Amino acid sequence: MPSSFSVDVVIVGAGLGGLAAAIAITRAGHRVTIVERAPELGEVGAGIQVPPNSARILDRWGILSKLRITAMQPEHIAIRSYRDGSMLSLQKLRPLMDEIYGSPYLHVHRATFHKILCDEARRLGVEFQLGLTVTGVDFDKPAVKVHGHKDITAHFILGADGLKSACREALLGRPDPPHSSGDMAYRIVISTDAMKEHKWLVHLATTPAFNYWAGPGGHAVGYLIDGGARFNMVIAVVDDLPDDVYSAKGDLDEMHERFKNWDPEFRNMLRMVEETSVWRLQNSIEMESWIHPSGKFALLGDACHATLPYLAQGAAQAVEDGAMLGALFEKAENMSEIADALGIYERLRKPRTTRVVHESTEYRAIMHMHDGEEQRERDRLMTDLEPFEGY
Ligand code: FAD
Repeated sequence: MPSSFSVDVVIVGAGLGGLAAAIAITRAGHRVTIVERAPELGEVGAGIQVPPNSARILDRWGILSKLRITAMQPEHIAIRSYRDGSMLSLQKLRPLMDEIYGSPYLHVHRATFHKILCDEARRLGVEFQLGLTVTGVDFDKPAVKVHGHKDITAHFILGADGLKSACREALLGRPDPPHSSGDMAYRIVISTDAMKEHKWLVHLATTPAFNYWAGPGGHAVGYLIDGGARFNMVIAVVDDLPDDVYSAKGDLDEMHERFKNWDPEFRNMLRMVEETSVWRLQNSIEMESWIHPSGKFALLGDACHATLPYLAQGAAQAVEDGAMLGALFEKAENMSEIADALGIYERLRKPRTTRVVHESTEYRAIMHMHDGEEQRERDRLMTDLEPFEGY
């Protein structure tokens, strides 16, 4: 039950993290304005995995049912060898996830997820100021500094402005460009109608599953989205994009050359790709603190704990950040208690997100092994994996 004490909160960034925080904090009885650089609300990329820790929060907010309309619920995780597509491991996800965590594992379209959060934020009365680029934070007022616009003041400010975060730089008091992980990813979407015309791809086009191909120096993940109309793929490889390039149009010939030694079935699928984009994968070096000593400012999401996407936990952790802030703000009865709440937020969230960042990096080494003794041992161990463990 929200207390009668309420504050004005400005959130920088209308990504999945900023929107989740806006919903949670508004539900806790406070007034929220989101300041977003883009002139229109939206999300880039196609598919996203929504693991049970994130789905459970959406359920509590009453919006999971909207996501479920077009979401796919994977039956299992299938890990295949890159070489011949042979199955290394098949672990059940359904109904195990619901049984263990009380919420499902879903595959959805990012734009759908984002729109559901935007609609809910609007319904709750969150105000959006679009097309405004935040250039810094005045921690004393507090206020956000906006390019070509007057400062926007509030009682409390949250920086949810993603990887290249102006808010993080303001908190650190120095430039802090995102850290390149040494990996990049191809993002691909294929029509399942087209896949179904090839008998060897029918099972991938019709079975909701979380498909992996473990290869040398890279791995691929593929799953159905949009009610099964499209197959979304992310293929990570050890490589980088030129400095300062975060994403670009991918070269299809170069992509085919990279995977020329992979399973013919996998390559057949790549031949159906009409266009691809490439993304530099970046992660955070752990910050000493996410909060300002004034007790009036905190970071959340990729702005403070960007991770390799290999455990599908980046957005899920940002949603958890938002939910935690909402729960703590609901209990606060004055500004001093808000400041205390921030300390608790950081103490609870930092160890968990740091673990995700580290484990995602460890997973990279496991899934990118080159052929040899170590890889054979990995494949042998995969055949008798314990049931899937989520977050
Ligand atoms: P962002 O989504 O980056 O949002 C930041 C927002 O702030 C943007 O709207 C931006 O326009 C705005 N902004 C930036 N700077 C300013 C400024 N100066 N002023 C005003 N506005 C500003 N996560 C999962 O949970 N599951 C997955 O399956 C998954 N797959 C992934 C696959 C790939 C290839 C990648 C790269 C990531 C994946 N992630 C996944 C991670 C996930 O996408 C991110 O962790 C998540 O989107 C971060 O959300 P955010 O709100 O913190 O930041």
